[in-house]
Amino acid sequence: MNLNPAPDEERFRDELRTWLTANAPAARAAKAASEEDNRDQIRHLREWQRKVYDGGWAGLSWPKEYGGRGASVIEQAIFNEELARCGAPPMINVIGLAMAGPTIIALGTEEQKKRYLPPILSGEEIWCQGFSEPNAGSDVASLGTKATRDGDCFIVNGQKIWTSYAHYSSWCLLLVRTDSTGPKHKGITCLLVDMKSPGVIVRPLKQITGEAGFNEVFFDNVRVPVSQILGEVDEGWKAAITILMNERANSGTGMYVTFRRIFDDLVQRTREVAGRHGRVCDDPLTRQDLAQSYIELEIFRLSANRALTRISKQGTPGPEGSILKLCYSETYQRMMQNAMQALGPYAQLAEFDGGKWGHNYLRARSSTIAAGTSEILRNIIAERVLGLPKSY
Ligand SMILES: Cc1cc2nc3c(=O)[nH]c(=O)nc-3n(C[C@H](O)[C@H](O)[C@H](O)COP(=O)(O)OP(=O)(O)OC[C@H]3O[C@@H](n4cnc5c(N)ncnc54)[C@H](O)[C@@H]3O)c2cc1C
Repeated sequence: MNLNPAPDEERFRDELRTWLTANAPAARAAKAASEEDNRDQIRHLREWQRKVYDGGWAGLSWPKEYGGRGASVIEQAIFNEELARCGAPPMINVIGLAMAGPTIIALGTEEQKKRYLPPILSGEEIWCQGFSEPNAGSDVASLGTKATRDGDCFIVNGQKIWTSYAHYSSWCLLLVRTDSTGPKHKGITCLLVDMKSPGVIVRPLKQITGEAGFNEVFFDNVRVPVSQILGEVDEGWKAAITILMNERANSGTGMYVTFRRIFDDLVQRTREVAGRHGRVCDDPLTRQDLAQSYIELEIFRLSANRALTRISKQGTPGPEGSILKLCYSETYQRMMQNAMQALGPYAQLAEFDGGKWGHNYLRARSSTIAAGTSEILRNIIAERVLGLPKSY
C-alpha cells in the first residue's frame, strides 16, 4: 500500500484547497429544528451542491462522458478528506452521488444515464433508497413490496421504512418483488420511481434527536413504466449488492477527518472543564478512555486506507468494506460515549458547544444499525473475508 501521494495527486489537492477556501460555506450545526429551519437548511445544502457541481467537483470519480471528472478513487478520497478538513457541509444528494449514480452507470441503459445522471450531480434531483421494510431489514431479500405487470407499467403496492431523505427526494431506487415463486434472492427487481407519482405517500419519522431524517413510504397502486427498470426484471439483487457495497466502502477518509476533529475538540474540552477532582483531563479513567478512542481512530484510518487500496486496484469495493463500516460506526459510538462520560453534565447543556455533544451521542446510536447492523457485518466478515462456514 503506497500512502505517499503522487505529484499529480498533490497538485489535485492544492487546486481543490484553493477552490474550497474561496467557495466553501461553513457547515451548520445539526440540531432538532423547526420546519422552516429544516427547509432553509435543505435550500442551503442544495445551493452548496450546485456550487460544487458548477466548480466541476461533483461526482469526481464518475466517467467524464457522464459528467464526472474520471478521477481516481484516490482523488475522490482526497476530495472527501479536504471537504471534511475545511468543515464544509456534506453533499445533500449523498445517495444519488454514491449509490444511485454509480449503479445507473453500471447497469442502466444509455437513455437512463442521459436522463438521470446530470441532475444527480447538480443536486437538482435528490434520490432516496427504498430497500428496508418493516419485516425486511437485515434480511432485505425477504422484501414483500410487490410489483405486478400491467401493459407497459408495473403496479407497485407495499411499504418501505427508514427511507432517508424521502421527504425531499425526487426519485427512489426501489427494490420490489416481481416473482414470489423461486428463491427469495431471485424475483426482485430494481425500479427508478418518481416520488411525485400518484399513490406515493411519505410520512416522516421523528428520531431520538428530535430530527426527522427518515420516513415511512407507502406505495398504493403506483404505476411505474417498465422503462424505469434498472438492470433486468427479477435480477434486482445484483443492483442491490452493487449499491450496498458502494454504501459501505465509500466515505472512510472524509469520516476519519471529521471524527478526528471531534476527538481533538473533546481532548481540548477536557483540559478546560472542571471535574470532581480538578480538570477532567487529570482523571485517570478519562485519560484511558481518550487513549482508547485515539487508538481506535488510528485503526480506522489505516482500515480506510486499506479499503481504498483495494478499490483502486480492483475497481470495485469488496466485502472488506464491511470491516471499515463496522470499525467506524463502533469507534464513533464509543468515542461519543466517552465524551458524555468525560464532560458529564456539560455535555447535556444546549448552551455548551451548541449542544453538539448530547446531539452527536444520540445520533451515533444509529450508526451501528444504518447500512448494515454490526451483527450482520460480523457475519459477512466471518463468511466472506475469513471463509468460515455459514451460521444457522
Ligand atoms: C439512520 C438510519 C438511516 C437508514 N436509512 C435507510 C434508507 O435510506 N433506506 C433503507 O432502505 N433503509 C435505511 N435504514 C434501515 C437499515 O438499513 C435497517 O435498519 C438495517 O438494515 C437493520 O434492519 P432492521 O432495522 O429491520 O433490523 P432487523 O433486521 O430486524 O434486526 C434486528 C436485530 O437483529 C439482529 N439480526 C438480524 N439478523 C441477524 C443475523 N442473521 N445474525 C445476527 N443478528 C441478526 C440485527 O443485528 C439487529 O440487532 C436506515 C437505518 C437507520 C438507523
